[in-house]
Amino acid sequence: MALNEPGDTGQPASPAHALPEVALEARLEQMLARLKADGHRLTPQRVSILRVLAESEGHPSVEQVHQRVLTRFPNTSLATVYKTVTLLKQRGEVLELGFSELDNRYDGARPTPHPHLVCTGCGAILDPPDHEAHGLALEEMARRIAAETGYAIATFRLDFYGLCPACQGRTVPPAES
Ligand SMILES: [Zn+2]
Ligand SMILES: [Zn+2]
Repeated sequence: MALNEPGDTGQPASPAHALPEVALEARLEQMLARLKADGHRLTPQRVSILRVLAESEGHPSVEQVHQRVLTRFPNTSLATVYKTVTLLKQRGEVLELGFSELDNRYDGARPTPHPHLVCTGCGAILDPPDHEAHGLALEEMARRIAAETGYAIATFRLDFYGLCPACQGRTVPPAES
């Protein structure tokens, strides 16, 4: 296989800031190792669920993960997906984003806290391209707040709400006819 250095493919970066293939495989391996260490069975269905979560294309809901797994394993139950997501969540291998007006959404690609962009038009959820630097800045803020308040901060969350570029295009009032 040819070397595939980032930036030499001539292709634009994925707008969803998907993990590069190598990082995706590493995430998958880590999830697999964690479940195996906990004594859970790794059926092909479960591996497929982990792969969808490692990709976390668009921060899917459990139902969306289920739909994607069904294309390969039509007999996978929604309960199996729920169970797997719960196990990973308990082990810090998937980040859960709860919303009052949307289903819970999941990020298995980047399970540590980082800011998210939430589109109130179409429900798309995106990691900003510079999510790593933003995540570190948030950690620093959390450390300072912990020092100021004496709180033992366990986790944190920052969401930016608004319209994605595609939805901004759709809000142009229709021409009168
Ligand atoms: Zn949108
Ligand atoms: Zn994310």
